[in-house]
Amino acid sequence: MDMKKKNLLRQLGLKAMNPGACAGTRWISGGVGELPSVNPATEEVIATATLPGQSAYEEVVEEARRAFLSWRLVPAPKRGQIVREITDELRRKKDALGRLVSLETGKIFEEGRGEVEEMINSGDRVVGLSRDLNGLTIPSERVGHLLRETWHPLGPVGVITAFNFPVAVWSWNALLAAVCGDTVIWKPSPKTPLSAIAVQNICNAVCEKHGISGVFNLCLGGRNIVGEMLVRDPRISLISATGSCAMGREVASIIAGRLGRAPILELGGNNAVIVMNDANLPLAASNILFGAVGTAGQRCTTTRRVIAHKAIAVELRKMLVAAFGKVKIGDPLSPRTLMGPLIDADAVENMMEALRHAVAEGGQVLCGGKRISGKGFFVEPAIVAAHRDMSVIKKETFAPILYFLECESLEEAIALNNDVPQGLSSAIFTESIRHAETFLGPTGSDCGLANVNTGTSGAEIGGAFGGEKDTGGGREAGSNAWQWYMRRQTTAINYSGETVLAQGIQFVS
Ligand code: NAD
Repeated sequence: MDMKKKNLLRQLGLKAMNPGACAGTRWISGGVGELPSVNPATEEVIATATLPGQSAYEEVVEEARRAFLSWRLVPAPKRGQIVREITDELRRKKDALGRLVSLETGKIFEEGRGEVEEMINSGDRVVGLSRDLNGLTIPSERVGHLLRETWHPLGPVGVITAFNFPVAVWSWNALLAAVCGDTVIWKPSPKTPLSAIAVQNICNAVCEKHGISGVFNLCLGGRNIVGEMLVRDPRISLISATGSCAMGREVASIIAGRLGRAPILELGGNNAVIVMNDANLPLAASNILFGAVGTAGQRCTTTRRVIAHKAIAVELRKMLVAAFGKVKIGDPLSPRTLMGPLIDADAVENMMEALRHAVAEGGQVLCGGKRISGKGFFVEPAIVAAHRDMSVIKKETFAPILYFLECESLEEAIALNNDVPQGLSSAIFTESIRHAETFLGPTGSDCGLANVNTGTSGAEIGGAFGGEKDTGGGREAGSNAWQWYMRRQTTAINYSGETVLAQGIQFVS
């Protein structure tokens, strides 16, 4: 490994071999195996982590439970101050952490830095929220009575994250949960262990300064060891899981079986952009390009389908084919690169399989779609002329494939937009208020996110993020998503000195 990379790892507290579990601020070495982190651009091992087993998992869970007993009593604005210091540390380490995210996931450096910026925005927001976890006072129908709703901390929260946003998704959950008075056990994707260890180091430095341990905990692992252990564990008050719809189905059924609190599920998307006959086409094309090719098509909000009005379809298709042809593919750390590699060999094979499937169903590859030979999991982004009866367009293939469909009316476009199992993000490009507001209305897009004249990707932290249908129904980050991380208590207080029953019931012996 070159000196630059060695320095980067040192800056983030990483070594060639790293412990894979952290109970509070105490790292636990050893375990049941090793987890090498592979750079998808070079196929080289960046560094390795140990894979914790059952005993490390137990230590981590017990530490999170122990810490909850005192953390819940710390006033929320003081909890916010700890998050503020973590956020300041993220500001200082933004470039280094962004670079590590880029190395480990293959997303370009600009997007790696953007991901850390999202963590910072998330931290800034929840620091303010720590003074705003407000309940309600409610008028009572009974004389001399008061009704109140109060929000209380919940307990240890298990946060399971996907490889493609290895640090931002943790921050949406963990920083919010911490301000709410919960403790957090993080199980990151086994494909991105180093980014998680680097973030844990940042949290540890701040917590140690304040003599705090156990609010932020980490346990690396895969689906069975650690993943399902967390999901089955009744000591965990809430699970927030981000990943594929298949994972969400497994997690939801296990938790339902033990009558656990409804999990926050942030699952796959199959996002469409509608381009109407009155749209600003250059604006639509540049947004579709970022939406389809950004993070090499590996965002949950990636634009996977374009639904173009037939009056502008030929022109838009030409613009997109030209733009896709100019995308610079290569080293994610080079400032000239727009698209890095896919995460691994399986992801490349899944893309090729989807393209074969599309062609077999009558689709036509208009550009790209080839594997690039040599080291690294590089592919060319593809556009496929598609029709509505193809089954492949209803699946989320986590790769840069854009299916191009045509429509004759807004109603048909909305029907196509909604005709997939997933319901995460959607967008319309139009200059017409009627088109825009119909798309946003009750007969419009059925997705959790619906945008006008901006693409499907790139949500901001202020709005609650999540999707409907197979996307899982969870909401994280902004708006009132914090309520999911707390328990609501409704209270009736009688200050009248009399027995007064609700609904006017008289109960006199
Ligand atoms: P994945 O489903 O393979 O894994 C996600 C996480 O779940 C990993 O940490 C994995 O180890 C864990 N896991 C898998 N099965 C599990 C089980 N049965 N019990 C407990 N844990 C389990 O997903 P991935 O390939 O890492 O990420 C890509 C997927 O994530 C895509 O479908 C993408 O759309 C989705 N995603 C969704 C959002 C969102 O906010 N909606 C954000 C990012 C990614």
